[in-house]
Amino acid sequence: MAWRLDIAVQTPAHAALGDLLSYASPTPLVPGTLVRVPLGRREVLGVVWNPPVSLESAEPDMALKPVGAALDALAPLGEAWRDLVAFAARYYQRSIGEIALAALPPQLRDLSGTQLARRLRRKTAAGPVAETAEAAHPVALSAEQTAALARIEAGEAGTFLLVGSTGSGKTEVYLRCVADLLAADPGAQALVMVPEINLTPQLEARFKARFGDDAVVSLHSGMTNPQRLASWLAAHSGAARIVLGTRMAVFASMPGLKLVVVDEEHDPSYKQQEGARYSARDLAVWRGQREGAKVILGSATPSLESWHQSRPAEGEDPGGRYVRLAMPSRIGAGELPTVRLVDMNLQPPKTVISAALLDAIGQRIARGEQSMVFLNRRGYAPVLACADCGWKSECPHCSAYRVFHKIDRTLRCHHCGFTERVPRACPSCGNPDIAPVGRGTERLEEHLAELFAAVTRPDGSAVRIARIDADSTKKQGALESQLAAVHSGEVDVLVGTQMIAKGHDFRRITLVAAVNPDGALFSSDFRAPERLFSLLMQSAGRAGRDAAYLAAQGATAEMWIQTHHAQHPLFSALRRHDYTAFARQQLEERAAAGMPPFAFQALLRADARTQEAAQAFLNAASAAAEALEGADRVVRYPAVPLAIQRVANVERAQMLIESPSRAALQRLLAQWQPLLHALRRTPEGKGVIRWLVDVDPHSI
Ligand code: ADP
Ligand code: ZN
Ligand code: ZN
Repeated sequence: MAWRLDIAVQTPAHAALGDLLSYASPTPLVPGTLVRVPLGRREVLGVVWNPPVSLESAEPDMALKPVGAALDALAPLGEAWRDLVAFAARYYQRSIGEIALAALPPQLRDLSGTQLARRLRRKTAAGPVAETAEAAHPVALSAEQTAALARIEAGEAGTFLLVGSTGSGKTEVYLRCVADLLAADPGAQALVMVPEINLTPQLEARFKARFGDDAVVSLHSGMTNPQRLASWLAAHSGAARIVLGTRMAVFASMPGLKLVVVDEEHDPSYKQQEGARYSARDLAVWRGQREGAKVILGSATPSLESWHQSRPAEGEDPGGRYVRLAMPSRIGAGELPTVRLVDMNLQPPKTVISAALLDAIGQRIARGEQSMVFLNRRGYAPVLACADCGWKSECPHCSAYRVFHKIDRTLRCHHCGFTERVPRACPSCGNPDIAPVGRGTERLEEHLAELFAAVTRPDGSAVRIARIDADSTKKQGALESQLAAVHSGEVDVLVGTQMIAKGHDFRRITLVAAVNPDGALFSSDFRAPERLFSLLMQSAGRAGRDAAYLAAQGATAEMWIQTHHAQHPLFSALRRHDYTAFARQQLEERAAAGMPPFAFQALLRADARTQEAAQAFLNAASAAAEALEGADRVVRYPAVPLAIQRVANVERAQMLIESPSRAALQRLLAQWQPLLHALRRTPEGKGVIRWLVDVDPHSI
């Protein structure tokens, strides 16, 4: 007796449509079992996907390769997990094998059955939830926290949108919810996601303090392969009661999953931007529904999609799919920062930091408080230019400028990575006087150092200015030590990119300033205002988080915004901390224009050596879609170049498709996929280097 097994393996992206490969096996391995299988000349890891089929009933001449060893020390991956993977593959137009294998820790590919069995023996029993000092004396919840928690715990399952101001104590609600769940159900597991790796250490510390080291594991791409394997195994076996992680953690195998938290659910980082372009937030909601787990989406500024899906808990209308819970107040009767707008049109030309803002920061320094100055552009200057001949630091390989980094005197392309030393003179005319144009965080840091050079701190020492951005934190552990320096009060003025705007629970920052946020106001991307609003609200949320400290200092928390468009409605809503008004205005615009969340979108993108070739492929694809069933319910827009048209000498073009019906869009994409594969082999597809489909794209 022999069996046919259908196995998911990691085939190159898009390569296989009939996604699963068949192998022969002497034993009927159950779905979810991990096996090694021959593929070409290699042996690769695969997942048994379907129930085994007896080969006696199959055609006799079917020549199947035999499977290799099964990793049967490991419990098979559950049905719910396989459903999640299959759904993600279908919805995001990828192969099952690609998603399944990417969701497994890389080290599983190399371990033998015996090595794996040895790892597994180390820890398998469900971890006890410790009775640590923090757990024994948790804080008393505020009235708003109590109400939100009670509502979440009232029902069996469901999705909750927790709209809590920055510093309203959302994390404490998550902690309490997890604690109650784990206490009530000895097999239950909770998954807590944050948008960025750099937010995991702080979260991990808080969860470990509450639940003990053994109950908590993390899953993110900053871990070593052995660490990732250990975390994954602990989650898969149920030994880890709590899994913390970034977007990849949504695929963690957790047999006892009963609660999923997506903190800062609006954050664009939840959308994977390469390979399978999934939204971990959306998959979390799907997974919760499939597994009967509660899902909490938390944010001070929810995505307009989630806001639109939700209705207030106390409302009559149960129309929304999510229950909306509000926590408008800060903990400890703290006030949200006062928002001050500086009209840059009234400042002397070339002003970087207005006199009023400078004075406000100076007052903080004099009182020993901290300020944070935020600029979403790293490097010294975005462009280097020659005033004589007009030369600019263009990247030879991209349609973009190379950024001037003064620290190592390089010009670096932020798109393709091309780096050169700064030329001594203009490469075009020889003028030695080439100058930086515009300003990044490095230059802002330098500027602030000059401005405060003559100022002293209360104890007479010099003002300490620090910078945190992707450049300052490249080394392993650099971010942690820089954040620790801020927390322990070794910094007076912190300069940084959005990296410092999100999530961190700073205690002594009483002023936050955005010095140049205007770019996003007039972007062609319809989501730019939404992103700017939430980024500014998040940044404001870093100021005055400790009400007791503010009171002791006799200080007030302030958010400063320097802008040339002080009358813009976005800023008036921000001034009032009025997310609801902002959301209403944006949703009205989106409804009128038929844009998400009132429509559903996908992008077909093609990369080629020439723009013509890329667009020819898209146009042929569009023509092929014409005949598909339901094509009349989906609008196909003309092919256009991407905003940054050329990167690393590759020309990029895209085509937007859109429908008021998600189902109609999905039906079209499913029928389109095989045509696109076929098209690649026709003359129109010849020049194409790669193509991809992005479902629910974030930036258009
Ligand atoms: P959010 O995630 O909403 O920005 P946090 O959960 O980080 O807010 O809470 C902000 C601060 O308030 C944290 O330092 C937290 O420890 C503290 N905190 C939260 N809830 C309470 C409470 N009920 N009593 C006292 N302090 C609290
Ligand atoms: Zn020149
Ligand atoms: Zn480049």
